[in-house]
Amino acid sequence: MSSILNADLHCHSVVSDGTLTPEELAARAAANGVELWALTDHDEIGGQHRAAAAARANGIKYLTGTEISVTFANETVHIVGLGFDPDDAAMSEGLYDTRGGRGKRAQEMSEQLAKVGIQGAYEGALRFVGNPELISRTHFARFLVEGGYCRDTAEVFRKYLTEGKPGYVPHRWATLKDAVNWITAAKGLAVIAHPGRYKFTANEEYALFLEFKAHGGRAIEVVTGSHTPAEYVEYADKALEFGFAASRGSDFHSPGESHCDLGKLPWLPGKLTPVWELLENRIQ
Ligand code: AMP
Ligand code: MN
Ligand code: MN
Ligand code: MN
Repeated sequence: MSSILNADLHCHSVVSDGTLTPEELAARAAANGVELWALTDHDEIGGQHRAAAAARANGIKYLTGTEISVTFANETVHIVGLGFDPDDAAMSEGLYDTRGGRGKRAQEMSEQLAKVGIQGAYEGALRFVGNPELISRTHFARFLVEGGYCRDTAEVFRKYLTEGKPGYVPHRWATLKDAVNWITAAKGLAVIAHPGRYKFTANEEYALFLEFKAHGGRAIEVVTGSHTPAEYVEYADKALEFGFAASRGSDFHSPGESHCDLGKLPWLPGKLTPVWELLENRIQ
């Protein structure tokens, strides 16, 4: 399979912090010309059977997907899993545990926001939640926009929900080793999501790539809605340097919020091995 394929292997539905259902996403992906699609909800694979069926109904190919929250060097890193067995019990349990601390974290976020004059944030965020096990910062951001505290969700993150800001509560997620192992033991392939987004030093990023590879990780996202064009070039070079295949995905969450729509991305640079070449026997 060529690198000239409209593959979109990263997006979110109401099963995590997106605003569209898996069925609505599949229809939108098809309308936008996506040929190979994966739904990658945060820490959750509950939407996989629906997404696969909806892809089939819309005549597009499908890979199972998820995006696992990991703590590495005191920073949250996201690991995308593709092409795994969606009924794998160990992976489901691992993800269930990963989702576990979200409720308590959300209540602490709400207490902190109350101290800066924002009342009822927990209840407010809950109104935006589709999956009770998956209350996320994104749902708080939508509540703060609705309440007129900020103009858009990006401003909420800047002012309230990132490290050092009043609504930020640090959290321990899965380990890198566990996340990669859950994916590979379920016959899937692990991908580092949007590597350009982490605030790592060069040494920390190098350690992440090497450890990820040592655990069996095979690819990094190169063309993603979270990268600048300069980062496409930077991470294309790093994929070659470390021997990683390359993935492509919009990270689409919502028509009103996401600046990059499903399937609307530049092609993967031709010199890279597309991740879908390693997953041909997992495509549905
Ligand atoms: P959580 O898993 O609850 O920590 O929430 C992480 C989610 O917040 C990410 O998956 C994004 O959807 C969203 N997010 C993180 N940083 C930003 C940002 N700066 N602007 C908008 N959304 C963000
Ligand atoms: Mn998200
Ligand atoms: Mn992410
Ligand atoms: Mn994402």
